[in-house]
Amino acid sequence: MQKQIVTVENVDILLIIPPLTQMNTPYPATAYLTGYLRAKGIKVAQVDLGLELLLELFSRKGIAAIVSEILKNKNYKDNESLNFFIESADDYASTIEPVIRFLQGRDPSLALRLANRQLVPEGARFLPLLDHPELLDFFGELGTQDKAKYIASLYIDDIADAIRNGVDADFELAKYGERLASSNSSFDLMYDRLTGPSSFIDNLLQKLVEEKFAAYNTKVIGMTCPFPGNVYSAFKIAQIAKNKKSGITTVLGGGYVNTELRSMTDQRPFEFIDELVFDDGEKAIELIIQKSSKRLRTMSLKNNKVLMTSDKLSPAELTDVAFKNHPGPDYSGLPLDRYFSMLEMPNVMHRMWSDFKWNKLILAHGCYWKKCTFCDISLDYIERFEPQKASHLVDQIEKVIAQTGTTGFHFVDEAAPPALLRQLSKELIARKIKITWWGNIRFDTLFDDDLAALMADAGCIAVTGGLEVASPRLLELIKKGISIDQVKKVTHAFKKAGIFVHAYLMYGFPSQTKKETIESLEVVRQLFANGHLDSAHWHRFVTTVHSPVGQNPDQYGISLVKPDVPTHGLFAQNQIDFIDDVKTNHDALGVGLRKALYNYMHGIGLETPAQAWFK
Ligand code: SF4
Repeated sequence: MQKQIVTVENVDILLIIPPLTQMNTPYPATAYLTGYLRAKGIKVAQVDLGLELLLELFSRKGIAAIVSEILKNKNYKDNESLNFFIESADDYASTIEPVIRFLQGRDPSLALRLANRQLVPEGARFLPLLDHPELLDFFGELGTQDKAKYIASLYIDDIADAIRNGVDADFELAKYGERLASSNSSFDLMYDRLTGPSSFIDNLLQKLVEEKFAAYNTKVIGMTCPFPGNVYSAFKIAQIAKNKKSGITTVLGGGYVNTELRSMTDQRPFEFIDELVFDDGEKAIELIIQKSSKRLRTMSLKNNKVLMTSDKLSPAELTDVAFKNHPGPDYSGLPLDRYFSMLEMPNVMHRMWSDFKWNKLILAHGCYWKKCTFCDISLDYIERFEPQKASHLVDQIEKVIAQTGTTGFHFVDEAAPPALLRQLSKELIARKIKITWWGNIRFDTLFDDDLAALMADAGCIAVTGGLEVASPRLLELIKKGISIDQVKKVTHAFKKAGIFVHAYLMYGFPSQTKKETIESLEVVRQLFANGHLDSAHWHRFVTTVHSPVGQNPDQYGISLVKPDVPTHGLFAQNQIDFIDDVKTNHDALGVGLRKALYNYMHGIGLETPAQAWFK
């Protein structure tokens, strides 16, 4: 038998995307850090343990392990869908690897068998197709690949449900253990999980981390937590790393840290994490790797005190890397051909988030508007607006295409500025670079027919933007700087140019009445009925400590509920409960709003008055 040669690579830092974020494309934070650090001559490796964990679960071996975990519960038969999963275990085991290969785009001919619905077991996620078989008509006669992707996605969702219902209640496809981290003022729940018995997912994570330490020799690991749904895993990885390698430095940063952990006083998180990094991490991590005695916006435990430091730095050193000087993301090292797409809803726009492979790129740091009263405008990631030069962006686009071999781009800006999109479009056209792109915008009047047509010529296929509360009084209060008429004009311009439009919607804003919510839905209905919108999503308003509403609650007629300080000190703090003088049952309204929108996105109920969705 031939001996396998295992090579160990020495790196200065191992950057990790902890489980779980997304499965179709890598979250871009580690790629941006990699681009910056490599340009400084620092040796970096990056891994996506979220993707790797999902691929472990969605494998023949993974199904066998899930089945044996479920069978440990004698009462599993009480749950109809678990029972179905166990009875169909052989079929799941024999189909899972071909289906994942298909969703990775590596076995397109499987579409023909998937689409005729004779290949994979069909559990509870397929029930809506019994009531609404017409959902499959969206794909038409020749839409075999998409129809197959839809069937395969429902099948993956059934397996994810089996894991959540029969193995680990904290598991969802794109998040893990969210409840442990989401605006949780106490670290108790997380601490108990971290120091308690290992779960099935913990054991998988342990195996993956050990594999990485066998492949990379490093003294520092850096993890990114954009959302509460990957925070527990980051702490778990840090715990495994500390048990495995003495002297390792564990660093945590990302959107969750920036928004939730700025006021942390609990010392226990430092049993796992050595340094929390706030805002842009490039320079801060560079200092840590260089073992500098200087620190830039990091939090650590010193002499039994939680300290936030930006010490020993001159004013020049305190300045972050200018965005125009950032070399851009470097995706090399990530297993780009192993990400898999999902199409869970037959809607042309809705699929953008989970389907296709997108290279993520940022056009401008921060937001050019920075006035919305519900937004974290006091924080650096919104407040510091620095656009990149269009020519530099197109250089970065060319570099990323060469690295990834794909030409789809998602511009993940807070709100891409119209002037920059004009320049970028002109530059792409002038340099004859053919890419497909979409991104987030504000429904700004500068997006007129000409600009929309130019963007479409340059490869733009979709935009997403915040309409928030479609009520004239509340749009004023939110300081969105848009009107409903303006949104109609801007969305019309995009649609005329053949660009799909998605709107972010909000309900439950302070002082919002039931009448205003229903009127808001009526505006949304008309936008769908007139073909201005392709998809949308309702968010329930929350007050955050970094937003104008959270900082000046009196101005919005609300009072904040003072949170209790936990015994061991504060862990996360971002969302704060509030008491509104105007009493509206937003929970009840939310049900009708979501139901209406789900139907609109399938082209159903567009003739029904908005009022009809509420009992
Ligand atoms: S909500 Fe969007 S447009 Fe408004 S300030 Fe925040 S990032 Fe800018």
